[in-house]
Formats: sequence, structure tokens, C-alpha cells
Amino acid sequence: MIHEIQAKVLLAHVHQPEPWFGLKYNMNIYRGCQHQCIYCDSRSECYQIENFNDVLVKVNAIDLLRKELPRKRVKGTIGTGSMSDPYLPLEAQRNLTGQALELIAAHQFPVHIITKSDLVLRDLDVLCQINQVYAAVTFTITTVDDSLAKKLEPGAPPPSARLRAMRALAEKGILTGVTMMPILPFIEDTQENITQIVTLAKEAGASYIIPSFGMTLRDRQREYYYAKLDEHFPGLRKEYEHRFGSQYFAPARDLPQLETRFRNLCQEVGLRTAIPQFTLQKNQQLRLF
Ligand code: SF4
Repeated sequence: MIHEIQAKVLLAHVHQPEPWFGLKYNMNIYRGCQHQCIYCDSRSECYQIENFNDVLVKVNAIDLLRKELPRKRVKGTIGTGSMSDPYLPLEAQRNLTGQALELIAAHQFPVHIITKSDLVLRDLDVLCQINQVYAAVTFTITTVDDSLAKKLEPGAPPPSARLRAMRALAEKGILTGVTMMPILPFIEDTQENITQIVTLAKEAGASYIIPSFGMTLRDRQREYYYAKLDEHFPGLRKEYEHRFGSQYFAPARDLPQLETRFRNLCQEVGLRTAIPQFTLQKNQQLRLF
């Protein structure tokens, strides 16, 4: 179900320091997510989203952003995509993320988008404009196997489409890469999977891969995930229960070897394992570290 809501604020300050992406502000135009990944952490009780199948659309998002952007004294990076994907299927009609990017471009703020959708290419022109300051697009890829991804991320475009989108962005000079997280124990924690992701991301023009070797498991998120394991991977729930009990973090099997393989491979092909951080100097020159 889609519900329209009026939000009070759109840009949230990110607690500093924010280690992954160097964000200053976070923007979520949607709450809930049509991509319906079976492992999604946003189902956890702490996020207070009662029914994650419902998507709430902040219909006044653009009005809010128009008011909020000129009031921000620090032109820090605006991130979007941490709690819901900014390129849900319904964004194709609503175009709220697209309009938000137009405003962001006009106000010359840097942007970092995290998505699982190639719909981001619709906004390629405005991203190129934002990139005169700084634009980065990170695709979450946990497997390159489209049929496996259909079970794990049933509402999202396949990884092959994400890799094609990455190539198109890289060709336009936009910084792009991968969040390789979560890596699901017993399903994705193989040397073969990690090797394929690194190899294909590199071929697609990625500059970095940010990994996490394992997954979170808590309250409602765990319940939903285990129900989906029963549906798609019969018998696997038992392995999880036996191995992880009520642990919050479920690490990948053979984690040290997997991580070593990943880091060696990234070094071999020339991929960073963190996103280059970015700051705006007083003279507005871009600096990447
Ligand atoms: S795309 Fe992200 S926010 Fe949406 S369901 Fe998947 S993990 Fe959750």
C-alpha cells in the first residue's frame, strides 16, 4: 500500500563523524521500501516502521527542501538511500528524488546516493551538474547472480542492471562503487561470490567497494528473514539458530580468509575498500582523500 504523508523536516543532520560516506545530512523521501529485501535491517523495531510493506511518500518533500537548503550554513554532503531506496519503482511516476536533485544542483550541495536501482540513470544529466561540486552513486550488490538476487531482493532491479548503470555513470565521470553488504552467511559468503562481485564491479567502472562480511539479525528483521529462509532455503533456519542464537551480528563463515581474499583482490585490480572522503574548502575547490 502507498500512503501519502506530510513530513515536518526533510534533511536530518548526521551525527559526526560519519565513517562510511562522510555525510552531513540525510534525506529520506520515502519510508518503507518496495524493494522488499528479505534481510532489510529497516524492519528492526528501533526504526519504528510498523508495516514495512507500506510505503509512505513525503508528498511535501520538495517544498521542505526548497525551504531547508538555503538555511544550511554548511554545504556538506547530502546522503540518500540509508533507510529506503530513493529509486523505488514508484519514483518513476512521482519523480520526487529527481526534483530534489534539481534543487540540490541549484544550491550546489554535494550528494551521495545509495541505491539498488538503475532508475538513477534517468537523473544522469542533473547528476553531472551536481558533479561539478561532487556526486557519488553507490550500488548495493550482495551477489551478481540475478536469479539468487530475485529471491533475496525481490522488488529490486537485478544486479546485472545495476552494473550496467554503474558503467554509464562511470563513463560520465561520476564517482561510483559498491556497498557489498550484507553478505548473508551460508548463502553469499563464498570466495566465488566475493571474487565475482569484485571482478564485475571493476569491469563496470567502480572505484571502490565497501564490504561487510555478515549481516545484522534483530527482532522483527530476524523473524521476517527466517520466514523467508523457510520459503526459499528450507533447512537453513536451523543452521542460523544453531550458529548465531540471539546474536545481533551474524558473521560470514571463514571471515578472515574471505576478507583477506577480498582485500588482496581489490589491491590487485586497483579498487579502494572505502569511499574517498570529500571536503569543500573555503575556495570551493574539491578535495578527495
Ligand atoms: S533496498 Fe535497502 S531499504 Fe529497500 S528493502 Fe532493500 S535493504 Fe531495505
